[in-house]
Amino acid sequence: MINADDVRKLAKEENVRYLRMTFSDGLGALKNIEIPIALLDDALNNKIKIDGSSIKGFLPIEDADMYLYPDPNTWKIYPWVADKNKTASMICDVHNTDGTPFIGDPRSILRRELDNVKKLGFDTFNIGAEPEYFLFKADENGNPTMKVNDDGFYFDLEPKDLGEACRRETSNVLTQMGFQVEADHHEAAAGQHEIDFKYDKALYTADNIQYFKLTIRRIAQDFGLCATFMPKPITGINGSGMHLNMSLFKDGTNIFDDPDGLKGLSDTALYFLGGVLHHAKAITAVANPTINSFKRLVPGYEAPTYVAWSTSNRTPLVRVPAGRGKLTRLELRSGDPTANPYIAIAAALAAGIDGIQNKIMAPAPVERNIYKMTADERKAANITELPASLSEAIDDLNNDEVITKALGSYFVDKFTELKQQEIDAYRTNVTDWEHKEYFDD
Ligand code: ADP
Ligand code: MG
Ligand code: MG
Repeated sequence: MINADDVRKLAKEENVRYLRMTFSDGLGALKNIEIPIALLDDALNNKIKIDGSSIKGFLPIEDADMYLYPDPNTWKIYPWVADKNKTASMICDVHNTDGTPFIGDPRSILRRELDNVKKLGFDTFNIGAEPEYFLFKADENGNPTMKVNDDGFYFDLEPKDLGEACRRETSNVLTQMGFQVEADHHEAAAGQHEIDFKYDKALYTADNIQYFKLTIRRIAQDFGLCATFMPKPITGINGSGMHLNMSLFKDGTNIFDDPDGLKGLSDTALYFLGGVLHHAKAITAVANPTINSFKRLVPGYEAPTYVAWSTSNRTPLVRVPAGRGKLTRLELRSGDPTANPYIAIAAALAAGIDGIQNKIMAPAPVERNIYKMTADERKAANITELPASLSEAIDDLNNDEVITKALGSYFVDKFTELKQQEIDAYRTNVTDWEHKEYFDD
């Protein structure tokens, strides 16, 4: 853990010249304001003011002053900036002028939900995230083309995998920034890649996801590539997910683990799982928050469409991977990297906590390939489907009192309004597919 004094020392030792005060808007886009390092004390004393009126999901114009409260634990130096302009960043909570947390600030929303973990007598909620991405070739102006950088497949090597050099440099940079990189590899689709980093407390993993996406995009540029986290960039091949691995710890012990329980899971884990499955539809609205997200959530591409869980097979919404003991975890497989990580994690946690508090026991695991089951077999096993569109998911979110309460009606209303605009824009946009399909009708 790093405190404000450590930050002062690090800034001096490293000869840092600029500080990025970084935060996330209501949809999860990273935003920042840069200040010269001479103002570091102001920053650490929460004196840096922003105008929230032009930030998506923040405040209306008449009441827009807000203050940034940096978290010293998120101190990172950007390795890609030249030493003469050495630049560090801290991720901030957003507060009102009276010092209270702003109710629309995603990071503060997750913090509030994490308080409930303590209230229940646990101490740590851990998240390990696996964001996948595609590398596309850039044109001479640095803009993305529609050509992926290779036609490699899962775990391929050079010369099939043409993303190796870029991926390794990205891993180097992430390591310099303090990430504990666990593995990197080519993913299943052409041009698709993954770099795994170690799990951490939920708040810091959400911060790390934000830094991760920034780094992936920035380093890709140096290789004449454009990185994208859009869930389904190409029709007909696998899309990019962001699995969330979840576990609860108490006094350093993983309380999801119980060698005598069903599949090695404790009752607490089974209740948490029960809650997540119960609220799965509402979670989808924030874990899969774009029109494009729903083009990934279709059968046949390793992405879930059914609300169920298993240990071995990868078709259901939640998988319990093989490791036990400290590694015991629930892997929520629906989310994608367009999710606002603070909000998606807060929603999943709220669902899990509801499961624990109301003892919502998980149904029996489904070890068969669900895609091969008939509709009657699925019905008999109580397997429901995830929402099929953003519009359905937004309705499911608004109809779910537990998740709406956890995220707060301010956030849910703003989010719904922004997403409705997106849905309307798409609805009125004529696509290439329609031209091909209807031109001669
Ligand atoms: P997969 O089998 O899907 O490829 P891995 O088994 O490699 O995934 O695990 C991926 C993620 O799970 C990593 O980010 C890892 O740090 C994380 N992880 C491991 N143990 C835990 C835990 N107890 N809680 C949360 N995440 C964990
Ligand atoms: Mg993967
Ligand atoms: Mg996974």
